[in-house]
Amino acid sequence: MSKTIGFIGLGTMGSPMAENILTAGHDLRVFDLDRDAMNRLKEKGAIATESPAEASRNADVVITMLPSGSNVEAALFGQNGAAEAMDEHVLYIDMSTILPADSDRIQQQLHARGIAMVDAPVGRSSRHAEQGKLLIMVGGEEAHVERARPLLDKLGDTIVHCGPSGAGERMKIVNNYMSIALNVLTAESLTMAEQCGLDPEQARQVMLGTVAGQGHMGTTYPAKVLEDDLTPGFMVNLAHKDLGLALEMATQLNTPSLMGSVARAAYENARAQGHGRQDWTAVYACMRDAANSTHTAQGGG
Ligand code: NAD
Repeated sequence: MSKTIGFIGLGTMGSPMAENILTAGHDLRVFDLDRDAMNRLKEKGAIATESPAEASRNADVVITMLPSGSNVEAALFGQNGAAEAMDEHVLYIDMSTILPADSDRIQQQLHARGIAMVDAPVGRSSRHAEQGKLLIMVGGEEAHVERARPLLDKLGDTIVHCGPSGAGERMKIVNNYMSIALNVLTAESLTMAEQCGLDPEQARQVMLGTVAGQGHMGTTYPAKVLEDDLTPGFMVNLAHKDLGLALEMATQLNTPSLMGSVARAAYENARAQGHGRQDWTAVYACMRDAANSTHTAQGGG
């Protein structure tokens, strides 16, 4: 059934997403601080508006796709903000990537006004946004998520309900932590290959054939630590030794190895905690112990 959607934030991601909503046959009211971005959507059939409030008036669903929590708060609660035009019939979906604490505060403020919200940040790229193939991580009450799902299905091919309000943002931040940090490790590794005279493309192909390129999540973790099996496939002591070799080579080549140095400290810690002869995935067990004991200490005041 055709609905009226208010869409705020027509940048790299928001524009193609808004276009997919139009293609799905919904009435679309858009707002962005950038008038050119609005005009491009207007040419495709959207109604351009003068404020977040105007975009949200009489909408069934309001979506924001903005850079930061302060942008979302400005669009909702600033002058002519969307919240003043929303009532208890509206479903509000924030698809921006923002700090979970900001998302929680926004959800509480809207809840106090009787407005339902789900957080639904997205994974993947603007190309996937164009194709309607985003991965969407959703937080919120089951009933609200089910209300959002038909629309989210037009924007993504994988919709994951991660838990209560804020869980979508939390999942997204954890995901980004890993992918963004891995980018640096990937860059360091290919630079190291090049600096020691190897063909970086060949190095990439070699690493795609090992855990280096395949990743621990689909290989070593499900085989070992997640099965509570720390009998060594590859021992912490050996991983510590091999990382040491790489760091020594990096020093000789004068090539960056920041990520490796930090990782070596984690292996040293695992050895100091008595995990040296266990499987290298014991680093995870070791880290969970440290996090839990910090929690307990803090909890105990
Ligand atoms: P962008 O900078 O391209 O677009 C943001 C848009 O928001 C701009 O058009 C800007 O004019 C508008 N804007 C800012 N404040 C506003 C306000 N108060 N009212 C109305 N409009 C306002 O950003 P993007 O790449 O589209 O990213 C949007 C969100 O999606 C971010 O939180 C980002 O982290 C997340 N994200 C981006 C990607 C990506 O590949 N670009 C991928 C996944 C998630």
